[in-house]
Amino acid sequence: MKIKYRGAVGMAMRCSHCQKCCRDTMMELSEADIARLERRGYRRSEFSYIGVDKIPRLRNVGTWCYFYDPERKRCREYRSRPLGCALYPVNVDEDGRTIIDAICPEAQSLDGRELQLKGRRLRMLLATIDAEAKRRQP
Ligand code: SF4
Ligand code: SF4
Repeated sequence: MKIKYRGAVGMAMRCSHCQKCCRDTMMELSEADIARLERRGYRRSEFSYIGVDKIPRLRNVGTWCYFYDPERKRCREYRSRPLGCALYPVNVDEDGRTIIDAICPEAQSLDGRELQLKGRRLRMLLATIDAEAKRRQP
């Protein structure tokens, strides 16, 4: 299933750019995420790798995500960032329940509606990433 990326996924969530979620990232990527970043001029092998589970993830450079600019303390590709980054701090636990990642200091600024909407989009995203990983299996 294709997911349409919309820059305004953030809605009410107030991100303080505290940098916590851009450090030691293991953010999973869909083919749509990769294609969008490739259109920005990056090569997929620069910013991502595929693990043994066949799922592409963002690379880190040192402790920071490839796209993080430590000097400006900003994501270099914020408007084109992976959908998982845009949906963060919403996450899904092992039982498939929508949760909020406690390391985000602005987690309380999400309201119930935003949590529900982001949770739904995240489930769709994860289903897409899993389906794409299955197609990469030999
Ligand atoms: S792509 Fe941007 S928002 Fe996502 S982890 Fe990297 S620096 Fe952070
Ligand atoms: S942890 Fe939360 S507040 Fe900090 S940069 Fe990530 S989304 Fe923004």
